[in-house]
Amino acid sequence: MKRYKYQWPGDKSCAFVFSVDVDAESPFQWDNRGKPVAGLGELEQRRFGPREGLYRITDLLDEFSAKGSFFVPGVVADRYPEILPYLTEQGHETGLHGYYHERVQQLTPDENAAVLDKSIATYQAHTGQAPRAYRSPAWELTPELVAMLKTRGIVYDSSLMGYDHPYCIDGLAEVPVQWVLDDAIYFKFSGNGTDAWHYASPDGVFNRWIEEFEGQREFGGLFMLTCHPWISGRAQRIRLLRRLMTHIRQYDDVWWATAAEVAAHHIATQATRFEVSADLIDTNF
Ligand SMILES: [Zn+2]
Repeated sequence: MKRYKYQWPGDKSCAFVFSVDVDAESPFQWDNRGKPVAGLGELEQRRFGPREGLYRITDLLDEFSAKGSFFVPGVVADRYPEILPYLTEQGHETGLHGYYHERVQQLTPDENAAVLDKSIATYQAHTGQAPRAYRSPAWELTPELVAMLKTRGIVYDSSLMGYDHPYCIDGLAEVPVQWVLDDAIYFKFSGNGTDAWHYASPDGVFNRWIEEFEGQREFGGLFMLTCHPWISGRAQRIRLLRRLMTHIRQYDDVWWATAAEVAAHHIATQATRFEVSADLIDTNF
């Protein structure tokens, strides 16, 4: 079957977005809610992100004169009030990422609405602007939340994987992600005895990412990289990211864009071309 090939601006073959989820302690806080926390170990490991890793990543983007898309949980914006103004001043895109990095499928629609409204109010307090971008914590979404995002003026979501180029779900633009391009699946290591795997080698990850990048050039998709400052701000990973970006930079048919720019392009040119419904599946049989 001959399929429509996604159209990027001008003569570009694919797009590259450098996205950053500024989680810091927030997922740990959500997963441990209601329980006493006695140890500093994982907290300090995560606090490396807002203290140091975030700025190494923005310095790296500066090396390539590139802008990133940063998704910041509300509690992180409140605990580190310098972050959102800094990113805005540096010209990066910023968006929502829950308040306590809630796992949205565990909440009722009313609870999700309250979390969303709280994170919108927090974002406005720190930036003076209404948010336009949303990435769900842990990349989970509910049909109700898709509708809530639209009614609150959010322009796009970036949490799903139904295509590897932009599409629309229930009329909301989706700028898709991919687990294979997430740093956490290779490098997240708590050291508390619960880790399912050890650190991956940067060389191995470099090869996997190059293979995916070359594949997206071939198929005309989106290379959506996702990094966490507490993970990818570490020295060897900054060097890995620099190698990756140096490889990508050698091609002139790659559109370096923010997720907001990709969403705007999609809405302006192909909004009706790839439309899906936010359907769940019948498990009551
Ligand atoms: Zn996150």
